[in-house]
Amino acid sequence: MDNYKSLTTKAGCPVSNNQHSMTAGPRGPVLMQDVHLIEKMAHFNRERIPERVVHAKGYGAYGTLTVTQDITQFTKAKIFSDIGKQTECFFRFSTVGGESGSADTERDPRGFSMKFYTEEGNWDLVGNNTPIFFIRDPLKFSDFIHTQKREPGSHLKPNWMKWDYWSLSPESLHQVMFLFSARGTPKSARFMNGYGSHTYSLINHSGERHWVKFHVKTMQGIQNFTADEATRMAGEDPDYSTRDLYEAIARNEFPKWKMSVQIMPESDAETYHWHPFDLTKVWPHEDYPLQEVGIVELNRNPENYFAEVEQAAFEPNNRVPGISFSPDKVLQNRVLSYGDAHRYRLGINYDQIPVNQAKHSKVRTYHRDGSMRVDGNHGNAVNYEPNTYGGPMEDPAYDEPPLKIEGEATRYNSYTCDDRDYYEQPKMFYQHTLDDLGRKQLIQNLATSMNKVPKNIQHRQVYHFYKVDKEFGEQVAKAIDVNIEDALKAWET
Ligand code: NDP
Repeated sequence: MDNYKSLTTKAGCPVSNNQHSMTAGPRGPVLMQDVHLIEKMAHFNRERIPERVVHAKGYGAYGTLTVTQDITQFTKAKIFSDIGKQTECFFRFSTVGGESGSADTERDPRGFSMKFYTEEGNWDLVGNNTPIFFIRDPLKFSDFIHTQKREPGSHLKPNWMKWDYWSLSPESLHQVMFLFSARGTPKSARFMNGYGSHTYSLINHSGERHWVKFHVKTMQGIQNFTADEATRMAGEDPDYSTRDLYEAIARNEFPKWKMSVQIMPESDAETYHWHPFDLTKVWPHEDYPLQEVGIVELNRNPENYFAEVEQAAFEPNNRVPGISFSPDKVLQNRVLSYGDAHRYRLGINYDQIPVNQAKHSKVRTYHRDGSMRVDGNHGNAVNYEPNTYGGPMEDPAYDEPPLKIEGEATRYNSYTCDDRDYYEQPKMFYQHTLDDLGRKQLIQNLATSMNKVPKNIQHRQVYHFYKVDKEFGEQVAKAIDVNIEDALKAWET
């Protein structure tokens, strides 16, 4: 803090009084010439920038990724070039549906956004605390998110909207079951896993492509609130998770996560029995085991929340040579929509906000001007290409190997939409991943949320649970007073 210096206006002119407005006489009206008052109020009125439409409530910290295992056979990305190599990073964690003042402990997926400041530019891995998602076609995203937000008429958040949508979208089932399991209310970022969720690609020095999924698993152990604790904490300490990470780092208790990858040879994608680019599916570990890559440690709190967390902009299109996209439809759309959201929320020059800047790679573009350009705008350097003045040029060495794609352009449903597609992985989760307590908690949490939902919606959803596992469907039905026979007829009409 710049203590004991005179207060100034934004133009740097000294301010003589910050407590008493200038008035005409001691009881008279305020004068227009009180420029300090006017400036102060004008700035205050503009303090808020548009809230993120999703992931509005969040917190974050800086740290490092240290490479522990060699994956250079799969990727030429310099971030992974040597064991022991360290790269600075910034992570932001968030709930999805709530506004920026909402409780950290709400049942909701958690955003798990990672920005690595590599020497080849920023690599953003913009994930969640779940390896899957509710939808697998981006055309459904805004409809789905509307069901997680407020009802247009009442501005309330009734549960029937989400169950209406989910029960009509059976591909959501896998993620719905994660969400209503104990991991739907993690205590804080320190105690949850992160997943890249999408399939990405890795490209090695020989130009070979492998498909990859990223897993970032907590080394503090998983810790969740029970449903009752989460509800209580929403009243007692709605910022519980924000506080937990901030105070742990302030105490020098630095949380760590182990980063691993699942690697699939490019050609396997054509024959693998799960759609490899379907965001509602995992790749079972038996088929593609986890391979450790490195350890992330978060060890530095931001100094200013607005500057560094609120203005942080993550985008899946920030990728570095050796790490790239896949045909996952939702990823393809996120490549567009994240930058688009930042341009709206922060302005076209959002990449110059310090937390978003490339820290270890020099930015050389021909982008110029735009609202709030404050970095010198590349001075008098030539602003077009090609040019004969030594300006930066493209480098074909960074071309990716071609990806074979064929077919006629139309609106395909590329999923089988049969029982195996909708119910098989949820069944693996219910029958093998969850233990008895986990299944009991899942049923209780579902019942609490579905209890007051209209009967026709309850019937449709119970039917899906029954198709996952007969006993599961029956138990949810019992818990919400639904006649299972009625539920099983739900899809007949
Ligand atoms: P595995 O038994 O090899 O792996 C199960 C995975 O589930 C582990 O990654 C474990 O991660 C995670 N897990 C354990 N308990 C829970 C829980 N209560 N809630 C959520 N995740 C949990 O099985 P498969 O790979 O064959 O997958 C079986 C099912 O496990 C899948 O259908 C999926 O629902 C779930 N799953 C699979 C993942 C994958 O990438 N294959 C990842 C996460 C879940 P942890 O170390 O965190 O306990």
